[in-house]
Amino acid sequence: RLVSADAEGAEEQVIEAALRPKKLDDFVGQERVREQLSLVLRGALRRGRTPDHVLLSGGPGLGKTTLAMIIAAELGQPLRISSGPAIERAGDLAAVLSTLAEGEVLFLDEIHRLARPAEEMLYMAMEDFRVDVVVGKGPGATAIPLDIAPFTLVGATTRAGMLPGPLRDRFGFVAHMDFYEPAELEVIVRRSARLLDVEITDDGAAEVAGRSRGTPRIANRLLRRVRDYAEVRADGVITQELARAALRLYEVDERGLDRLDRAVLESLMRKFGGGPVGLSTLAVSVGEEPETVEVVAEPFLVRQGLLARTPRGRIATPAAWAHLGIAQPAASPM
Ligand code: ADP
Repeated sequence: RLVSADAEGAEEQVIEAALRPKKLDDFVGQERVREQLSLVLRGALRRGRTPDHVLLSGGPGLGKTTLAMIIAAELGQPLRISSGPAIERAGDLAAVLSTLAEGEVLFLDEIHRLARPAEEMLYMAMEDFRVDVVVGKGPGATAIPLDIAPFTLVGATTRAGMLPGPLRDRFGFVAHMDFYEPAELEVIVRRSARLLDVEITDDGAAEVAGRSRGTPRIANRLLRRVRDYAEVRADGVITQELARAALRLYEVDERGLDRLDRAVLESLMRKFGGGPVGLSTLAVSVGEEPETVEVVAEPFLVRQGLLARTPRGRIATPAAWAHLGIAQPAASPM
């Protein structure tokens, strides 16, 4: 994964898999997406045809992979998983496509990072269930058309804006996944606690949910950290007070800002007087890739009203100065 701040350990991946809802009915939140998707799937099942290709867009940890697995499960089909960066050449994609069984669901994560030739091959595959395999080089090269079995593509992207129009247009259903509401995250936290056999009070769950940056993956991650704390330093029960103490230790503040979020804001304020400053300059100043800052930190900070993206660059809002308790200089641009 390029997005390092979202990197996961092996243990986390195992637990994540265990916590994944398996049916659409168990998928919490994203009401509209769920309802629309349910219709798409049920319509296809009724007609006995493969459903339209589905594009899921939204930040890391919002449930795109989970939803892809649910789509396959609801259709009673196997799921093949690959990703844009994993497919380096058109031939790699041809190899995947030509071995799909009829009706199979192909999940392509980070589809915006697919190489150009593979992307063009995908257009034809999505539309006509056909690929042209090019054999040979130069003037002697020949394209051999190859039929592939009708399949359903589920593409996922954290950056819908980077998807070329022709690719986007070939998805019959596009779902945008947004941050979750605290009440929805609370349901997720309680469900995960039950699955992990952890005792948590209602206000304990609310505390964890409220600091999860609107993101189920983070909610599950914080729950595990709080559980460690509860087991080692207390009697194992997660109360509100305990959740607060544990999250303070892990440097997650009351609004859910983590170290990267605060580093971005602090750098913006202390080094650039609150901005405006360009994304790459800001990213360098916190030692991260611009994409990490843009995809992982910024959407939440913008949503919280702590950072604004302007044509001239990023700006810290008055709320950000207040939240970090840094005095705003008089000549600041805002
Ligand atoms: P993405 O593919 O968007 O990065 P994932 O699908 O891998 O996100 O979700 C990350 C974790 O969050 C999963 O372990 C899953 O259990 C949990 N999760 C995501 N969305 C939901 C949801 N709507 N309800 C319950 N758990 C969810």
